[in-house]
Parts: sequence; structure tokens; C-alpha cells
Amino acid sequence: MADQTRAPTLDPHALARELSGFLLIDGDLRPALSGATFDVVNPATGETVATAAEGDAQDVAAAVAAASKAQRGWARLPARERGRLVAECGRRLTNHAEEIGRLLALETGKAIRTESRVEATLVSDTLAFYGGLASELKGETVPFNPSMLTFTQREPIGVVGAIIPWNVPLYLMALKIAPALVAGNAVVVKSAEEAPLATLRVIQVMNQVLPAGVLNILSGDGPGCGAPLVAHPGVGKVTFTGSVETGKIIARLAADKLIPVTLELGGKSPMIVMGDADLDRAIDGAVAGMRFTRQGQSCTAASRIFVHESLHDAFVARLKARVDAMTMGDPLDEATDIGTIVSPQQFDRVQRYIALGETVVGAVAHRCSALPVDERLTRGLFVQPVLFTGIPNDHALAREEIFGPVTCVIAFRDYEDALAMANDSDFGLAATIWTRDLRTAMDATQRLQAGFVQVNQNLVVQPGLSYGGVKQSGLGKEASFEAMLDHFTHKKTVIINMT
Ligand code: NAD
Repeated sequence: MADQTRAPTLDPHALARELSGFLLIDGDLRPALSGATFDVVNPATGETVATAAEGDAQDVAAAVAAASKAQRGWARLPARERGRLVAECGRRLTNHAEEIGRLLALETGKAIRTESRVEATLVSDTLAFYGGLASELKGETVPFNPSMLTFTQREPIGVVGAIIPWNVPLYLMALKIAPALVAGNAVVVKSAEEAPLATLRVIQVMNQVLPAGVLNILSGDGPGCGAPLVAHPGVGKVTFTGSVETGKIIARLAADKLIPVTLELGGKSPMIVMGDADLDRAIDGAVAGMRFTRQGQSCTAASRIFVHESLHDAFVARLKARVDAMTMGDPLDEATDIGTIVSPQQFDRVQRYIALGETVVGAVAHRCSALPVDERLTRGLFVQPVLFTGIPNDHALAREEIFGPVTCVIAFRDYEDALAMANDSDFGLAATIWTRDLRTAMDATQRLQAGFVQVNQNLVVQPGLSYGGVKQSGLGKEASFEAMLDHFTHKKTVIINMT
């Protein structure tokens, strides 16, 4: 069994073996009650690096029982003490960021320098952010009647079920567990099948600090482990990030119990480059926005780029040259910019979309040149980034979430047309506009249908910036102070009659 307190190990293969086959329930690493496991495969080589415990309804029941028991004592701690402990978890994790980043790179194929290390660091930032907000869990007094004292107070919900995807598993998990814990809830996490190890290590390190049972993690598949977690009568709230399809299944299960859900779902995020844009900045923004360092596996990826016709050809040529210069290779190599796709299923899906795009009359697939040369990686799930031009905005390639390194660059003549195309989408997660004109920028910030709009920049979400989609992109917000109040507490009204 892995030692929770030993120094970090920088060999991700050794750490993967140590964590093999375990869930973490009530402070202890333990196998699934059924004894079942599934393989964890390195997508850069095709080698099995570990197994993960395959939790099912029995393990869900054990985890929820432990969480319910622990939650009562946790909720009675002063909020500031909970905040202090959560922030302390963040400090501990800073010492483990390198080993956790390397483990994440091993299991997901996300490059260590450009993606995995950064993500591991964001976990500590998120825990520090929410830990510091504990004393802000305040109610209000209401001047209802002079002879009555009326006030509200914030109370935890109880046990929160948190279901996470594989693409940014550590950060998306932190955005759920940090506010839930600080607000006085206990949590049962269900990790993604493709990324069970780094998340387990984070929870294990946090369990060095937190009381046993307050924070538990299960691995397993969606129907066998995720669905029983949502349906369990002891779970009072579910917070989910993943696909639209699964989000709707979870919302239906939650509706049967009438419990609240937060859903962070897919995206098809537009980037509008006006004719007066600073082209250098817009190219930088596109390179960052397409998230090719993550093989485009991002819900906020700028997967539709609308470029004014006067800049279109220069934009495509310069963007392609920039992506051509990126290095694709071993995710654990510091020189690598772009790692792999996460799984064979996802790899096939991306290839199907690229093949479909190549059948569109008048469309051109600009394939970027990067591909690894290393012989150890011949079975790796590498996909050359593709910029498509000439794809109509109503084609599947421009409407559906591909979750791969595929971007449609679409020319426009008129701002209103660009805005209409940008909004003509089932999704509404993120959007950017690039212009020197303040009026156009302000107009776009008001009219773009998205939960997160940026002008002349393309940052990824940070703790403190409210984040969440409209339309099919989800329900509810994350990453902000309000997210903790609105999604992880009940507001209770109390009236004391003083006559
Ligand atoms: P997914 O929906 O297939 O799986 C997400 C999680 O849900 C996994 O843990 C999975 O095991 C679980 N799950 C699957 N079926 C379930 C069921 N019936 N009941 C309960 N749980 C179930 O998504 P994915 O392929 O892992 O992730 C990619 C998706 O996530 C993309 O659509 C992407 O846009 C979305 N995403 C959204 C955001 C956001 O913040 N809006 C961020 C990252 C990813």
C-alpha cells in the first residue's frame, strides 16, 4: 500500500504501480469490494502502466456512509478551521506538484511542460483561494419586523457527489472539492476512467490533513459507479463536468431525488478576428485558444475562428506556421509542446471528423507538420493538428464538439454576420473577439451568447473568475466565491420573536 507521508517520487511509473488497484474511502486506500480492476494505459506508448480499482454500487455505499458520518463533525468545525485545513492541503500539494504532474502526463498524454505541471499547480491555487474565503460564509439580517430578529445562515448540504472528466481532471476536481469542503460538506469523487491515478494521489495527499471520511475517491465507469453515486439517497448534491449527453442522464437521475446539480458541459467556442485586429496578438490568442498543447481536448477550445476576409489568408498561413513549429512527442519530455489524444476511442472519433471534413467540397485541410519521430512512440495516439478552411458554419465540423486538434477557420465580411455565426451554436461556453474598436468590443461582450467572453486575450479560467456555460454548455457556475455559496450551501431563514 502506498505510504501517504513519504517524500514525492519523480518516477511516474513507480508511483502508478504504487497506487494500482485502490480506491480511497474513509482515509484508507482499499481495493474495490468486488476486487475488479481495469487497465490504465499510457496513450503515448500503448503500454499498461497500472490498474485502477473498478468501483461499483457497493463501494459507492461504503464511501457515502463514511462521508455522511464524517460530515457531521466536519460541519461543526468553525468555518475558518475548515478553510485553514483546505489551504493546508494546497500547501502540501505544492510539494507534490511535480510528481502529480508527471503522473498526469503518463496517464493522459498531456505534455508535462505545457499542460500537466501547470494543472497540478492550479490545484494548490484553487485550494488556497477557497480556503481563504471560509470566513465569508455569512448570512444576512433582514429588517422584517422590529420585534423579531430575522436572519439567514449558510448551511452545508451534506454529502456532495463530484463526477469529473479526463481532460483537465485535477483542476476540475479542485473546483468542486474546494468550495464543497470549505462550506462544510463531505465529498465523494468519481474520477474519469482515463485518468484515475493523479486524482487519487491528490486525494491521498489531502487525506494527510483532513479528517478521515471527509474526502473520498472512487474510480470506475459511468453507469457502474457514477450513476449509483448520483442515485444514492445519501448524496444531496451532484456537481459534474463532462459531455452534454452524460450531463442530461445525471440531471434526470437527480430530478428523481429532487437534488440540485451543477453541470459543466461541452463547447464550440468562437473567436472573432475583426479586420482592425492586431494580427500578432490574434495569432498568439489563436495558438493559445485552440489548446493544441492539449491536443484540442478542451471544452473552451477556440474551435471556430471567424476571420475578416481581409486578413483570412495571412491569418491561416501565419497560424499554420506557428503550429508547425510546435514539437509533438513524449509527454514526459520537457521539449514537448503537444502530447497525445487520451484514448483509442477519442483518437478514432477525431480521425472520423477529419475524414468527414476532407469530403466537404471547397474545404481545405491544412495539416500541421508536427509528429514524433521517436520509435518508442509508434503506437502513440498522436494526431497532427488540422486547420480547416472553407467549412460552412452549419456543417457538423463547425457545430459538433470534436475534442481534438481540429479548428475551422471561417471568413466573414460583416461584423453582424460574424456575430450571428458565432451565436448560431447549441453551445455557449466561451468566446473571444479581437478588435481595436471599443464600441465593437463592448457590443460583442453584450451580444455574444457565452458564459465567458474575452476581448483581445485568451486566458484559461483561474480561481476567482466565475466560469460556466449557457445553452447546452451547462447549468451553474464554478471557480468563484458565489459558486461556493450558491452551489454548496443552503440558505436557511431564521426568525426569533422577541416579544
Ligand atoms: P463523459 O460525459 O463521457 O464522462 C465524464 C464523467 O462522467 C466520467 O467520470 C464518466 O465516467 C462519468 N459518466 C459517464 N456516464 C455516466 C453516467 N451514466 N452516470 C454517471 N456518470 C457517468 O465526458 P468525457 O468524455 O470524460 O469528457 C469530455 C467532455 O467533458 C466534453 O464534452 C467536454 O466538453 C466536457 N468538459 C466540459 C468542461 C466545462 O467546464 N464545461 C470542462 C472539461 C470538459
